[in-house]
Amino acid sequence: MERIARKHWKHLYEEIISTEICCGCSACIVACPHKVLELRDFDPVQTDGRSPFDNCIHGEEGCSLCAMACLRLGPALQTIESSVFGRRRRESEPEGPYRCKTLARATDERVSARGQDGGAVTALLKFGFDEKELDGAVVAAPSEDVPWLDEPKLIRSSEELLRTAGSRYTYCATPLGLKQAVAAKCKDVALVGVSCESTAVRELAAQGIKRWVRSLRLVIGLMCCETFDYGAFMVSKVERDMGLSLNDITKVNVKGRVIVTMKDGRDVEIPLKEARPYANEWCHHCPDFAAEHADLSCGGLGMEGWTMILVRSERGESYLERAIAAGVLELREADEEPRALKVMDRLAKKQRQRIKASEPHAEARWPTEQLLAAARSEGSSGKGRG
Ligand SMILES: Cc1cc2nc3c(=O)[nH]c(=O)nc-3n(C[C@H](O)[C@H](O)[C@H](O)COP(=O)(O)OP(=O)(O)OC[C@H]3O[C@@H](n4cnc5c(N)ncnc54)[C@H](O)[C@@H]3O)c2cc1C
Ligand code: SF4
Ligand code: SF4
Ligand code: SF4
Repeated sequence: MERIARKHWKHLYEEIISTEICCGCSACIVACPHKVLELRDFDPVQTDGRSPFDNCIHGEEGCSLCAMACLRLGPALQTIESSVFGRRRRESEPEGPYRCKTLARATDERVSARGQDGGAVTALLKFGFDEKELDGAVVAAPSEDVPWLDEPKLIRSSEELLRTAGSRYTYCATPLGLKQAVAAKCKDVALVGVSCESTAVRELAAQGIKRWVRSLRLVIGLMCCETFDYGAFMVSKVERDMGLSLNDITKVNVKGRVIVTMKDGRDVEIPLKEARPYANEWCHHCPDFAAEHADLSCGGLGMEGWTMILVRSERGESYLERAIAAGVLELREADEEPRALKVMDRLAKKQRQRIKASEPHAEARWPTEQLLAAARSEGSSGKGRG
């Protein structure tokens, strides 16, 4: 039988994982039908002993789902953008297309008090459970055992939600929670994830790997410049070098600097310049600040107590309208915070410039015109499907 010349684990390993472009989103692990992939220390690892770690016996026989699922190998951007906004992103839209924007905060004080910014994300999920629009939410939840480390988790009720509110600035492979949702036979699921995770779940759908995303009704994206390495930043820098016990930290926030709030009410500040070296390597290859493929994209943008929501899809808009009608959010005009809008514009533009033309698959990642031109003249791979 003729061998199918499709990419599989071997190529994914060579081109994305060994080059440290892989963001650990785990979409490949979710997609793998033979369950031979596992996430170890934020990297997908091939565990079937019949092949070396950098190859896969099933891949050699024609399986290619892991490669298809990978947003870094060459995302199906055209399909993704058509499904979310009905058109391609323009060069003039560094933060991605959106229909409208608003500032929001939860009207329930328990939610706004626990939320990272305005608690809007938690309020939206809570509304979904309370109104029976959702029977599952796949989110990052604080580990029961390891302080300030998150785990992907399927939440089934609004009571469970509160402890997941707030941001942890280390990576959590939220899409892995889709497996829990399928195992629990959920029918109406929301997923919350940083930019790369919002795209990862769209990529699964765009590639027809539908089993894991069939029940997905809402994708809430979190704007994101970088995540920090848990061991290096939280354990070595914050706990060991700065002497801040992780068990005594109540909030970590990034507002032009990292602000660590302690149980005793003290704020300890870490200049961004000092924190940046602890950022995960893969974030240096990420062009998307504003979670452009989510239905609703949310960020704090330097504000206190309010969440900026970019409404991107029709589905996101109608969900938000129902939540507003139910009174779970208080709103303000986005234009009342011109500084926040400037911050968004600046960060989104800056992040687009991160990709170097010489990187593998640079062309496939939300390119700027300059990058495209440079990539063409350097003859870089640029094998994007989008
Ligand atoms: C790693 C990270 C980096 C961010 N960087 C920026 C930034 O540079 N600029 C900016 O404006 N906004 C950034 N945000 C978004 C911001 O911190 C808030 O999440 C957003 O404004 C929503 O606030 P909220 O009060 O409405 O959310 P909440 O109601 O507090 O809900 C927060 C949600 O975030 C989820 N979550 C928490 N930690 C993680 C994680 N590590 N990975 C995935 N999901 C998580 C929780 O499960 C919860 O569902 C970042 C968020 C994260 C997680
Ligand atoms: S080639 Fe198939 S079986 Fe092998 S790792 Fe990829 S998805 Fe899994
Ligand atoms: S799908 Fe995600 S975890 Fe898998 S190789 Fe690609 S970026 Fe890495
Ligand atoms: S900067 Fe990009 S790659 Fe890094 S965690 Fe955020 S969204 Fe993912």
